[in-house]
Amino acid sequence: MREPTFLDCCDTVSLRTVRVLYESHHDLEALKVCVCGGYWFYRFSEYVNWAGGHDDLTSWYTRLSPEEGTALAHTGRAGLDLGYLRERPSWMDDHDGVRPVPGAPDHPAS
Ligand SMILES: [Zn+2]
Repeated sequence: MREPTFLDCCDTVSLRTVRVLYESHHDLEALKVCVCGGYWFYRFSEYVNWAGGHDDLTSWYTRLSPEEGTALAHTGRAGLDLGYLRERPSWMDDHDGVRPVPGAPDHPAS
């Protein structure tokens, strides 16, 4: 996976996955933490273009507070309300490149 150097929690970003919250054939939700201790919510979604052309691979990274990260590390997916992701500035990475977006999805596409 490409090193997400655009992330801005610190100058030496290196993420590891704390916990995979959801995983399907085309979607992934995971809690990640940086070496600086900053928590990130990671979402990956793949849209398969059956008509040909490129598949649409999209990643979102959303910065979490320490409280949110701790809650995600210890709460079952069914008990999580991720609605705050929709209004949290995030990074979106797809075939057009990386850019800041005003919010991220709060549920898998599939
Ligand atoms: Zn960091």
